[in-house]
Amino acid sequence: MAHIYLASPHMSAEGYEQEYIKEAFDTNWIAPLGKNVNEFEKELSAYVHAQDAAALSAGTAAMHLALKAVGVGEGDIVFCQSLTFSATANPIAYEKAVPVFIDSDRETWNMSPGALERAFAKYPNVKAVIPVHLYGLPANMDAITEICKKHGVPIIEDAAESLGTLYHGQYTGTFGDYGVFSFNGNKIVTTSGGGMLVCSLPEEQAKERMAKVRFWATQSREPARHYEHKEIGYNYRMSNICAGIGRGQLRVIERRIEQKRHVFTYYQEHLGDLAGVSFMPLHEGERAICWLSVMQLSDDCPVKPLDVIFTLERGDIESRPVWKPLHLQPVFAGSDYFDNGGVAESLFTHGVCLPSDTKMTDADLERICSIIRGLWK
Ligand SMILES: *Cc1c(COP(=O)(O)O)cnc(C)c1O
Repeated sequence: MAHIYLASPHMSAEGYEQEYIKEAFDTNWIAPLGKNVNEFEKELSAYVHAQDAAALSAGTAAMHLALKAVGVGEGDIVFCQSLTFSATANPIAYEKAVPVFIDSDRETWNMSPGALERAFAKYPNVKAVIPVHLYGLPANMDAITEICKKHGVPIIEDAAESLGTLYHGQYTGTFGDYGVFSFNGNKIVTTSGGGMLVCSLPEEQAKERMAKVRFWATQSREPARHYEHKEIGYNYRMSNICAGIGRGQLRVIERRIEQKRHVFTYYQEHLGDLAGVSFMPLHEGERAICWLSVMQLSDDCPVKPLDVIFTLERGDIESRPVWKPLHLQPVFAGSDYFDNGGVAESLFTHGVCLPSDTKMTDADLERICSIIRGLWK
């Protein structure tokens, strides 16, 4: 039986991606600029209704330039959700700024507004706040936006896992001044590797800031015939080939979201009755894209997360633990942390990310569920 991945690239059946790549080859735009890059930016920004978008080499690069765009520099405090992938916070360190980690809420699995309020009380001079929409679940943007507005601090949303997620009818990534998307190989839309920074500031401001972002992303080259540089630059632009893949992928995103949600519903229906099992929280009025389907096993559950992971592995099926909270990571040891009753840590110790590949058939899902159910017998 074929190996089942956690989440792997899924090209369109129509071959849209190859059409855009072929056009790049035919016109010899094999470079980090060209029509696919420009069009991908327009198409993505139209899809999420953002003011502007810049296609970059990675989601991590997008986060880095977002931090620079809001003026984060050496010694500045940045509030960052603790329960996330390290790429959310690494760019804070690139700028020699100081991450302060915020616990999650049970209801959303994302940034706790209560813990955020307490962080503001201690660090009123914070420069930016980074909530994450983990696994495609939207954060409580109503409460987070209200708190950040009150303090006049910009939000950078890490929407790397949530392209297509709707919160009260609005796309995640467009609530803050900036939103970060990733097109890494395992994300719902992939360009083999890449990212996008979207801006939702008023038009004039967005234009100006995003021109600066593109400037930094292309080595901060001043407008002179010779190569003139007044600032440190980065080589962060997306390749025209990669952007072609992204354009094709974006045409089938709604199909992929349906498939991701189907996978999640399947697990809920076929595993939800097992003792000690619960699933990530979906709410009325929201559309979570369920990038990964995540299960929780309670303390009194006879089966532990690693039992599930190792058993699936023996069947050549990939699964993984929930992200280890960043305040527990050795690399961020000593960082300040605002707790909300240990939610992030609990989700980490009790969680399993189940296979969420959109290429899986119902027969694959049936096999996975029957292997898992076997552990309860
Ligand atoms: C994938 C991911 C990133 C990083 O994106 P890259 O494109 O891999 O650099 C950032 N944050 C989260 C939450 C992610 O899942």
